[in-house]
Amino acid sequence: MLGSLFTDIEKLKGVGTARGEKYRKLGISTPYELIFHIPRAYLDYRAFVPVSQAVLNDYNVLKLTVVKKLAPQRIKGGLVICKALATDGTDDILIVVYNNVYAFQALKENETYYMHGKVNGNFLRKEIMAPVYIPSSEKMLIQPVYPLTQGLSVTLVRTAMRQALEMMKREPFETMPSYILNKYRLCPLDYALENIHFPTDEDAVSAARRRLSFDELLKLQIGMSLMKSRSRRSTAFKMDSSVSIKPFTDGLPFELTEGQSKAVSEIISDLCREIPMNRLLQGDVGSGKTAVAAAACYFAAENGLQSALMAPTEILASQHYNTLSSFLEPFGMKVCLLTGSLTPKKKAMLREKIVSGEINVIVGTHAIIQKDVEYKALGLVITDEQHRFGVAQRAALAEKGDSPHKLVMSATPIPRTLALIIYGDLDISAIKQLPKGRKPVNTYAVTGKLRHRAFGFVKARLDEGRQAYVVCPMIEESESELHAVKTYAEEAANGDLKGYTTALLHGKMRPNEKDKVMKSFRDGEIQVLICTTVVEVGVDVPNAAVMVIENAERFGLSQLHQLRGRVGRGEFESTCILITDNVSDDCVKRMKIMSSTSDGFKISEEDLKMRGPGDFFGSAQHGLPTLKIADIACDMELMNEAQNCAREILEADPMLEKKEHRTLKLDVMRLFEKEIIG
Ligand code: ADP
Ligand code: MG
Repeated sequence: MLGSLFTDIEKLKGVGTARGEKYRKLGISTPYELIFHIPRAYLDYRAFVPVSQAVLNDYNVLKLTVVKKLAPQRIKGGLVICKALATDGTDDILIVVYNNVYAFQALKENETYYMHGKVNGNFLRKEIMAPVYIPSSEKMLIQPVYPLTQGLSVTLVRTAMRQALEMMKREPFETMPSYILNKYRLCPLDYALENIHFPTDEDAVSAARRRLSFDELLKLQIGMSLMKSRSRRSTAFKMDSSVSIKPFTDGLPFELTEGQSKAVSEIISDLCREIPMNRLLQGDVGSGKTAVAAAACYFAAENGLQSALMAPTEILASQHYNTLSSFLEPFGMKVCLLTGSLTPKKKAMLREKIVSGEINVIVGTHAIIQKDVEYKALGLVITDEQHRFGVAQRAALAEKGDSPHKLVMSATPIPRTLALIIYGDLDISAIKQLPKGRKPVNTYAVTGKLRHRAFGFVKARLDEGRQAYVVCPMIEESESELHAVKTYAEEAANGDLKGYTTALLHGKMRPNEKDKVMKSFRDGEIQVLICTTVVEVGVDVPNAAVMVIENAERFGLSQLHQLRGRVGRGEFESTCILITDNVSDDCVKRMKIMSSTSDGFKISEEDLKMRGPGDFFGSAQHGLPTLKIADIACDMELMNEAQNCAREILEADPMLEKKEHRTLKLDVMRLFEKEIIG
C-alpha cells in the first residue's frame, strides 16, 4: 500500500538530482513528504486592486496586461534586469524581474495576468518588483505560498505537487476509521490534501486545515498516551501517612506560603499511595519550589527511602545541594552532590554510600542517572526544569529503582493542555503566589545609546551595597561568541564598571571554576557578574537587585522572564534593564510585554503564541514531535476534541491492535519516530 508515494522524490517528472537535493533540504525526500508540505499561507488573487490604488512600498495584487516587454539589461555582477510596461487601465506600471530570464520569457505581450509583488515608486512612476503571477485565465485564484528554498519556485513545487496528488488518488489513502470522520465531522484525507494545495475556495481550505490539524493532534495525544501507559503499569513504594513533616516546616527559616503548603500536602498524599506519583509542580520563578522539594525529600527519608533530585546545570545542582543540606542535615539526613566533574575516586566513594543507603538525598546533574549509580531504595525522583532534559535522560531516570514516585518542577507556567501533552497524564500542583514582601522587578527597555546612563544607575545601586548581573547572549556557545563575551567583560571592567569588582561566568568554564565564581558572587565578594545565560535557571542570590541584559532581542520571552527572575528575590527594590537596538515589531512587542507585566503565566502564553510550541521549549529537547499544521496555542478547541477522540480510541483498543486502527498506529509511530517504540 502507498507504494509509489514512498519512492524517491526524483521519480517525479521535472525533479532531477539538483532539484531533488533542494527538496531534501526542505525535509522532503518522497512524494508522500511532498504532499504533507503544507502551505504557509495563501495568496488570494481575487483581491486585486487597481494600479491607481496600489499601496506604495507594500505588497499588492494587481491584474495587469503586458503592453511591451523591454530588452533585458545586463548590469555589473552578471545580474540581468528585465522590465515590461503594463497597465490595467487605471494607471501604467513597470514590471521588474531580476535575474530570472525564465520567468520573464513566460510573460506574453497583450496577455493579462494576476500579479503579486511589492509596488515601489511614486504617483508618477510605479514598479512592481519580482512579482509572482498567474494568467488571468487561471481558475484557481487562491494560491498556496510554500516555505521554499532558493531555486525552487512555487510553480515548480505546484507541478510536482500535482503529480504527487495524482499518485495519492490512485491508492487507498484514508488513515482514519470512518466512524471517527463522521463523529468529528472531518473531511476525507485525500480531499483535505487536494484542497490544502489546490483550494477552490476558503471553505475548502478551512475544512482541509481542520482535518489535517485534527489528525496531528490526535496522533500526538495517542502517542503520548501510549508512552505514558508503558510507565503506568507499576506499583511504587507506599509511604506512611502517619509520618509528620512538622519538624521540617518548623525548622525552616520562613513560613511556607499557602501555595507551598498545599503543594506539600498534595505531594505527600500521592506518596502514600501505591500508584507512582506523576506530578508537576508549577510555580513562577522565585515561588519557592525548592522548599517544597525538600519537604518531599524529608518525608521520603523519614520513610526510609532515598530521593534523587536532578538539575539541568551544575551550578543549579550545587545550589540545590546547598539548600537541601541546610534544610535536611539538622535532622541527621545525609545529602550528597553528584556531578560529572567529580574525580573518579570521589565518585566511587559516593556511589558506595548511595548503594549502602547511607545517603538519603542525591542531588546532581544527569550524572545521577548513569548506569553505574545504584540506589538502595529510591523512592522519589525530582527533576527541576525537566523540559531542558532530553527524552532519553528522562526515560533513564524513570527506570531507576522500582518505579519511584516522580515530581517535576517547572517555572514555565505552560497552559494545562500543553502540559498534558508534554508530560503525559499528570497531576499539577501550582504555587500561585510569591513569598510575602516580593516586589515586582521594575523593567525598562532602552537602546544602546542609553547604555552609559544605564550603567550609571547600576553603579548607584552597587554603591548602596547591592549586586548586579550583566547578561550577554551566547546562544550557540561558539568560540566567536565566547570571545565577544570575554571582550565585553574586559571592556566593561575597564570602562563603565571601572573600580567595581567584576567576574565573568559562562558555560564553557570548568565546573569548579564556575562554582568558585558563583560562590564569591553569593558571598558578596564580586559586585557584578558578567555572564551568559548559564545564570538563567534557578540561581538564587537575594542581594542581587539589578540585571542588565545586552542584545535583549536575542532572547525569547520566557527566557527573559527566567533571567529576570534572578533579581527581585530579596527585600530590595529591583530593576531589570533590557538593552536592544532592534526595532522589529516582534522585538518591540516582546520588550513591551516584559516591561508591562511580571506575570509568568501571561508571559508564557504570549511566548507560546508568538513562537509556537516547538521553539517554545527550545530545540528538539522536549520530545514533542514537530507539528506541521496544527497550532497548539490557537487550536485549543480542536485539541480538546482530539483529546476526547484519543481517549475513546484507546479505551476501545488500548494498543491499537484492531484492523481499523492499523494505519493510524503506523502514522503515530511515524510522527514520533523511534521514541514511542521499545
Ligand atoms: P524557585 O521556585 O524559583 O525555584 P526557590 O526555591 O529558589 O524558587 O526560592 C526562591 C527564594 O525564596 C529562596 O531564597 C528561598 O529561600 C525563598 N523562599 C522560599 N519559600 C519562601 C517562603 N515561604 N517565604 C520566604 N522566602 C521563601
Ligand atoms: Mg528553582
